Amino acid sequence: MRLLLIGAPGAGKGTQAGRIADHFALAHISSGDLLRHHVATGTPIGQRAQAFMDRGELVPSSIVLDMLRKPVLAAARDGGYVLDGFPRTVEQAQQAYGVARELGVAVQVAVHLAVPREALLARIVARGLTSGRSDDDPEVLEHRLDVYERHTRPLLDYYRERERLLTVNGDRPLAEVTWSVLVQLQRAKKLLR
Ligand code: AMP
Repeated sequence: MRLLLIGAPGAGKGTQAGRIADHFALAHISSGDLLRHHVATGTPIGQRAQAFMDRGELVPSSIVLDMLRKPVLAAARDGGYVLDGFPRTVEQAQQAYGVARELGVAVQVAVHLAVPREALLARIVARGLTSGRSDDDPEVLEHRLDVYERHTRPLLDYYRERERLLTVNGDRPLAEVTWSVLVQLQRAKKLLR
């Protein structure tokens, strides 16, 4: 099974991706977590990515695509993946599809976690108190939300037009959101063949 989650910062992508991956025994691949690991360990990828991340900008696609190629291929061959944070733009989706389709590892379903902006702001401000993430600062957050609206939201139409989009109300208790994702996947199971 090959899924991806789309949601604004604070929508619960990481949490839900982890729970869905556990449920189906899939690999949870988070581009943000991988990038933060590269930054923390001072790799060349981390050194190139850090300034973009601190400002709440997108890291250049070539870096992210190079970083993800191996783990995504490995996961696809070993049962599947839940991608969280990638793709972030229509361009990234097109580039990844070009490679993945030939290898038979393209995404089957994109799940949109829909959460209103006020709820996102409240969640991220709360997360910033404990996460230690420099980009959970309120000003950077406003910018990340704008980046989401401008660059990532168009992905919803991209997957909708391809009949691969499921939308779940993410503004509910965590377990209810997971349950809705599982129910919707069950209803859309023809996409998973
Ligand atoms: P996230 O943990 O998904 O909120 O990502 C944190 C930060 O990592 C983002 O604000 C971007 O700077 C960077 N990032 C994560 N995924 C991507 C991606 N697919 N393309 C570009 N930048 C990304």
